Amino acid sequence: MKCPYCGKMMEIGMIQSPRELAWKKGEERTVRRAAAFEGSVILSKADLFSGSAVKAWNCVDCRKIVIDYKVSPDMNR
Ligand SMILES: [Zn+2]
Repeated sequence: MKCPYCGKMMEIGMIQSPRELAWKKGEERTVRRAAAFEGSVILSKADLFSGSAVKAWNCVDCRKIVIDYKVSPDMNR
């Protein structure tokens, strides 16, 4: 994937966590699951043994990370 900011090729990798990975509206930090918040996007549900992970592209020059959440959850593991 090319970086949407500078146009250089980005490096593929993973963002991982022992818990669910999700995006939710606003800036309030919480430990509650994303399903509790309307409009949230669950990027990867947590597995007891392997945690959660989602593919992500990194541009080290711009210090930006892009996540495409159209990718199916099965492909994120
Ligand atoms: Zn860039």
